[in-house]
Amino acid sequence: MEGNRDVSAQQTIRVGGEWRKAASGSTRDILDPADATVLAVVSEGGAEDADAAIAAAREAFDTGPWPRTPVAERAALLRRTADLLIRNREKIALLESRDSGKTLEEGRVDVDCVADAFRYFADLVMNESGGRVVDAGSDTVHSVVVHEPVGVCALITPWNYPLLQASWKIAPALAAGNTFVVKPSELTPLTTVDLIDLLAEAGLPPGVANLVTGPGATVGARMSEHPDVDLVSFTGGLRSGTEVMRAAAPGVKKVALELGGKNPNVVFADACATEEGFDTAVDQALNAAFIHSGQVCSAGSRLIVEESLRERFVTELALRAGRIRLGRGTEKAVECGPLVSAQQLAKTEEYVASALAEGAVLRSGGRRPEPSEVRPAEGYFYEPTVLDHCHREMRVVREEVFGPVLTVETFRTEDEAVTLANDTEYGLAGGVWSADPGRARRVAGRLRHGTVWINDFHPYLPQAEWGGFGKSGIGRELGPAGLAEYREAKHIYQNLEPRPVRWFAG
Ligand code: NAD
Repeated sequence: MEGNRDVSAQQTIRVGGEWRKAASGSTRDILDPADATVLAVVSEGGAEDADAAIAAAREAFDTGPWPRTPVAERAALLRRTADLLIRNREKIALLESRDSGKTLEEGRVDVDCVADAFRYFADLVMNESGGRVVDAGSDTVHSVVVHEPVGVCALITPWNYPLLQASWKIAPALAAGNTFVVKPSELTPLTTVDLIDLLAEAGLPPGVANLVTGPGATVGARMSEHPDVDLVSFTGGLRSGTEVMRAAAPGVKKVALELGGKNPNVVFADACATEEGFDTAVDQALNAAFIHSGQVCSAGSRLIVEESLRERFVTELALRAGRIRLGRGTEKAVECGPLVSAQQLAKTEEYVASALAEGAVLRSGGRRPEPSEVRPAEGYFYEPTVLDHCHREMRVVREEVFGPVLTVETFRTEDEAVTLANDTEYGLAGGVWSADPGRARRVAGRLRHGTVWINDFHPYLPQAEWGGFGKSGIGRELGPAGLAEYREAKHIYQNLEPRPVRWFAG
């Protein structure tokens, strides 16, 4: 038993404060991607489970205490949840590592970041809980804009950062006073199930946090279209995001989408003028492309390097990519885990094959590694792959692979670098490497991406908005805008001395 959940009975659906099985009785095996063995068995929910969870969230919003709970108490609950996450850090990090394939150390970093998100939104909501008095131009009018919770939120999350992506939605949703139903990815639901237990332990009233494990096509689709849902916040791929938006349209729901990316990492030769600069830029290009086996929405999967630097840079990069230690994420010396599923592995192989057929030159990787003691043959491992001589007509340059595949393009001028970097339908993130601060800022200013790193790649801050231009999404998570997504602004105009207006003579 965990919380009041009977793990052996696959009770992974949370409705109105109770754990239960899927109404259909169906279950799903959750696989360890390092060896394809069954890690856990969860309930495979369906539309009827989504309906039950939404009804519970609706009731908790309409008649329960949470939306009316003083903001200080809501913030305190968020802080208690952060403390509980840190108390359980090792356990959650291990579960996340085994479920998603990421290394244990990455799992620990994720738990810390999740706790930070809860603390950040606790602080933010305390600072931004007051209304805004508006000058109505009259002493006899009191005009104020207040912020209220949106209502019932449907939160749908992906498999690459299961708990982190959930926290970027759950923490602001709760801070603002909403109730929610969360649907984690069917591939990696385990830590989100644990988080719901921790929220209950922290004192969240029943019905505020509901969870349905199950597929996107049934549970996610139902959540997106359901008339009792007020907001859908989705993180995932472009195709599913488009379907969510379509399903939400007839109900004119608020929709927030965090979708994919095809993120450029632009390296000017001047960044590599010293040995130290060269080493740093190569090291960070590796990190940008291959951390978590490239299964990162902001992965720097397109290296755009100045032509004069290409040969030296790509040679060193390919050498170091070949040395990355692949294996089960929980093994100590391992630097990179497997892909999440057989499907993701097949997709990666298919992209590399198509790139080679289209003329790309393989500089490293391009295959599954030999099995070893830390790398079972059944695991979904793929070698970090560097593809040189790429161009935008290639699918591998245009489409998100979501695997350990880095493409190389080159430029001669600053304008050309900017054009290449912006030559994507996405616009999530990008990096610029230059020793010339003016050039770096100029290029950063011209990139059409939601986050731009100068001489760095990947860091994010909870207090800074995260999200995308173009087809990378709608809306922002984190930062003040990440809380605003979960609030409705209401203008209350109070006439202190009402009199007839006499617009109509009679
Ligand atoms: P996915 O789109 O396959 O699934 C994401 C979630 O949506 C899952 O819970 C899935 O069950 C659900 N879903 C699928 N079809 C649905 C539908 N028709 N209606 C409602 N829900 C549906 O994505 P994934 O493979 O789990 O995750 C990888 C994708 O997520 C990548 O494209 C990646 O770039 C993106 N991502 C983006 C961010 C960001 O911050 N922008 C962060 C992480 C991941």
